[in-house]
Amino acid sequence: MSKLNYKLLTPGPLTTTETVKKEMMFDHCTWDEDYKKITRDIREKLLKLAHVSSDEYTAVLIQGSGTFGVESVLGSVIGEEDKLLIAANGAYGMRMADIAQRNKIKYDVYKTGYDEIPKAEEITRILNENHDITHVSMVHSETTSGILNDIASVSKAVKEAGRIMIVDAMSSFGGVDIPVGDLGIDFIISSANKCIQGVPGFAFIICKKSVLENSKGNARSLSLDLYDQWKTMEIDGKWRFTSPTHTVLAFSKALEELEEEGGIPARNKRYSENNKLLIDSMRKMGFKTYVSDENQGPIITTFFYPDNKNYTFDEMYQYIKERGYAIYPGKVTDAETFRIGNIGEIYKEDIEKLCGIIKDFLNLKENL
Ligand SMILES: *Cc1c(COP(=O)(O)O)cnc(C)c1O
Repeated sequence: MSKLNYKLLTPGPLTTTETVKKEMMFDHCTWDEDYKKITRDIREKLLKLAHVSSDEYTAVLIQGSGTFGVESVLGSVIGEEDKLLIAANGAYGMRMADIAQRNKIKYDVYKTGYDEIPKAEEITRILNENHDITHVSMVHSETTSGILNDIASVSKAVKEAGRIMIVDAMSSFGGVDIPVGDLGIDFIISSANKCIQGVPGFAFIICKKSVLENSKGNARSLSLDLYDQWKTMEIDGKWRFTSPTHTVLAFSKALEELEEEGGIPARNKRYSENNKLLIDSMRKMGFKTYVSDENQGPIITTFFYPDNKNYTFDEMYQYIKERGYAIYPGKVTDAETFRIGNIGEIYKEDIEKLCGIIKDFLNLKENL
């Protein structure tokens, strides 16, 4: 069967290196010392990337996609008497509300427009007026739009108010440097197939140990019990239940390659340059961005369809895909848009090539 080959400009799963993919050509056994050491090394490296020490923090890996990681934290950490405040400005923020509802967690949502960032002062006000709120959660890079939320000021406000801070940094961790310890973040969640540039299969959570300790016996789910997962993994690196071995091997290699690239600062630079080149080139062709430059993150960009379009997203998508790249439909609810991610094994040349393809497509349409 012939298969169309293309690079992903979708922010997870994303395009990985050949060498990361090759790591998966081996069926590793799960119980022996080699494998357990790989897991231990991954956990250690994740703490380093988060700028935290193992005295205060621990890294827990959990099977499943990123949402499993978020649900594991919310469902394990927030007690029956607790209440969560969710600062939401996109679909992933609202997904936390869905998780809270399903898990029968008490919660409130502080909702802002999808092109606006939640404000620390507003969170301070809500926390001062609502003493029953014990936890606050927010997405860092809202992949819905590409907006980058200000976790520094929000974490500061939450910590000053003495509450627990949970961050979904799914599409930013590894691509944006986050001083997790300095910000006092208690739980920060990401997954294997985003900026670390691994393949899908597990989520990981950097947890403040003193807070995680308190969640013993609290989880509403067996398989997503963050505390139990931690305690089992802590013994010698063996996973509770079957681990995604191929994903783990690929992730270990991806971490090595992140180091070789120059760590998070170097990766952030490449992503930011990709993003800037993309936005500049798209603007030259007449496209406008949904998020203002001030709040635009370096991961993914939402563009409006041009007003006078004589083509559908599907036509454009198909044209680009046949020429080697897969882009994303829009996800914001209040406008007709599409999205282009620029993370993964993507370089300047890819952005240039993509913009050339889009230009050809527009010329073709205009000359009809
Ligand atoms: C990718 C992503 C998730 C997790 O999505 P899954 O499909 O479960 O992997 C959660 N939050 C954000 C901000 C994301 O970008």
